[in-house]
Formats: sequence, structure tokens, C-alpha cells
Amino acid sequence: MGLALIVHGGAGAMARERYDAAREGCREAAVAGWRVLRAGGSALDAVEKAISVLENNPGFNAGTGGVLTTDGRAQLDAGIMDGETLDAGAIAGVERIKNPIQVARRVLASPHVLLIGAGAESFATDSGIALCDPSELVTPAQYARWQRGYGLGDDVNVGDRVDVGAGLGAIDMEAEPGTRNGAYADDEPVHADAHKHGTVGAVAVDARGVVAAGASTGGIAAKHPGRVGDTPIVGAGFYAENGLGGVSSTGHGEDFIRLLLARRALDYIAAGSSAQAAATKAMQLLSRRVGGSGGLILLDGQGRVGYARNSPTMAHAFIVEGMDVPFAGV
Ligand code: ASP
Repeated sequence: MGLALIVHGGAGAMARERYDAAREGCREAAVAGWRVLRAGGSALDAVEKAISVLENNPGFNAGTGGVLTTDGRAQLDAGIMDGETLDAGAIAGVERIKNPIQVARRVLASPHVLLIGAGAESFATDSGIALCDPSELVTPAQYARWQRGYGLGDDVNVGDRVDVGAGLGAIDMEAEPGTRNGAYADDEPVHADAHKHGTVGAVAVDARGVVAAGASTGGIAAKHPGRVGDTPIVGAGFYAENGLGGVSSTGHGEDFIRLLLARRALDYIAAGSSAQAAATKAMQLLSRRVGGSGGLILLDGQGRVGYARNSPTMAHAFIVEGMDVPFAGV
């Protein structure tokens, strides 16, 4: 069984000058998760690690740097799932948690699946995770965008400041999707849209063949307070089942919920599709059935990569057994 890890930094319509920072942020997260897997860590540990790195990067719409509600607050959601046990953990609408994925992981180990708001925050403190001040999650860039009312020109997916980590070595930052590893077959946008999305996610397969998947987000820019999208919803924003694979979604969450799209993608695998074909079919369904936009990353049970989007960009990076450095693209 080969190790495999893939991450995404959100689907949307990223400005070209932000491509490098987005690829670098994803690459850094992939390297961090890969190190966990290479050290014998579990798929869950690798997903939690990779997503934590993305949450801590203020350039992505998750953790620090998430988009704000109409009344100017960061309300974060996250979820994670173990493909072996089908245990899942998620939290939604939290305002004082720096790394929501870490709390979701603890919910996974509890009798519950989904905790919201103040209850999720008290669960975090009970589990030994300190709360932060809500203002620590709000970056100057997001605050400025919120003040301007999130105009159409705003890229709410990847912001201006991206911390670049050490990494494993050079990769071809100019390579376009479709040029490496045969992972992308027909991932050209089904339709381009003007929406901007965010969210981060990861899927991993470990040495025991266990699959894990997770996602974390600030949601949709200028969302109604209390609005929850697909990211913390099992089967919509993420899903993992050993043998079939794992999925992490990004895009307009309401549409992913309507179709339970993460699980739907794995159903295509169960019906005989390849990893890439399953990802593509899921995105085609999203376009055709509800006119939704976004993207998803997928690993099948053997760690083969699938990737598809119907929005103009989706920052991502993956590394599988046999590769020396991650491939990163938008
Ligand atoms: N799916 C997320 C949500 O609807 C947002 C995103 O992926 O950009 O909350």
C-alpha cells in the first residue's frame, strides 16, 4: 500500500499574481503532512497536520484569515473522518478556536459527530485546547475586504500574506494541471464563474491503507451569521472510507450539501470509476444538477490521485510514494 497525501487551498477565481503564494502554501502543507506519513504516522494525523498548516497560513480562508460574516465576525467550520472506523468529528460556527481541525479531531474521538458554537468551544477547553480572542482570527486583509463589502474584485480565497515554509526542494511552479503524473485527465473548467471560494482540505492514505479526509473553512464571504456550509457536513465537505478512498470539497457549500458530493464521488469509485474519473464526474454532476461551483480532491483506496474543479482555479498539492517532492498547482 503506497502512502499518499493531497491538499487543497480552496476553489475560486484567484488573481494570477497570487498563484505562486497559493501553490507554495499548499506545497508547505503537503510536505508537513507527508513527513507525518513518512514517520509512520496515521492518515488522520497527516490530515490534521496538513490542515493545521493551512489554517495557520493567513493567506487561506480557514483558521486565521477566514472570511467574515455580514456583521464582521470570523465563524469557522471544520470536519475530519477516519475511513477505517467511519468515525467523524466536526465543529461549526466557532469564533475562538485557532485550529478548528484539531478540535474536530477530538470530536471524532468522542461519542459525538458535530458540535456547534459555544458548545464546541467549551468542548475544546474541556479537551485541553485553549480559546483565542476572536480578533486573533481576523487578518487586516480580511477586515479591509469586509469593510469594502467584499466587492467582486476581491480574491477572498488567497490573501496577500503567505508564510512560506522550508519545504523539501524545488518544484516546477509554472507547470499547469495536466502535465504531471497522469493525474489529471480532463479537468478543464466545466464553466468559469465569478465566485470566489476558500476552504482548505486534505486527504491521506497511510501505511496500513487507512484513508482519512478533512476540511476547514471560514465559509463564504459576507455569509449570514450562523450560516453553515458543507465543510463540517459528513458526506458533503469530506468523506473517507477504506478501500474506496477519501474526498475533500471546496466551493459553494449549499450545493455540495444538496448533492452530498463528497460521498457521491466515492460512489463513482464503488461503481468502477478511476480516481480521476470519479472526481470529474462529481464536478460534472454539480454543474449539471444544481449549477454549483467549486472543486474537490480525491484519493482512491490505493492512493491514486483525482482532482477536478469547475471554477477557474483550485490551489492544490499532492505527493505519493515514488515522488521526491510534491506537485503543486492551481
Ligand atoms: N465550502 C465552503 C463553504 O461553503 C466555502 C469554500 O469552499 O470556499 O462554507
